[in-house]
Amino acid sequence: MKTQKIFKFIPVPIFYNCPRLVPPRMQAFSWGIFIAVRSHWMSPGMIEHELEHCRQFYRSLGLSAILYHLSSRKRMMYEVKAYIKNIRQGEMGLGFAASLIKINYDLKYSVNEIKDLIVEEMYKHGKKKEK
Ligand SMILES: [Zn+2]
Repeated sequence: MKTQKIFKFIPVPIFYNCPRLVPPRMQAFSWGIFIAVRSHWMSPGMIEHELEHCRQFYRSLGLSAILYHLSSRKRMMYEVKAYIKNIRQGEMGLGFAASLIKINYDLKYSVNEIKDLIVEEMYKHGKKKEK
């Protein structure tokens, strides 16, 4: 087990080699307060991706876990923000990230709509950092 901090003070345990805590077809899963990884290793971008879901969980006081399943719009936005972490780590490009979101999360939005949202979110995030 490793631990990484979010918001500079909340420790998030990361449990490796836990296939039973990871849904089929996924490599890792955020349980809000901890992350389960299927195998013994995870790429830095995927860890950042799952840590972003933990941030979403804490920011929403746990509501993200419910909204994720109730609203496809919310699910898309949570994944857009998480996949931006993969893109920023240089592990995938915009088009590939948008395609993965489209394919893996049961969304009615087109790949191009998802691409636009990613770009919009990345720009917003960049602007915030400049302040
Ligand atoms: Zn995700």
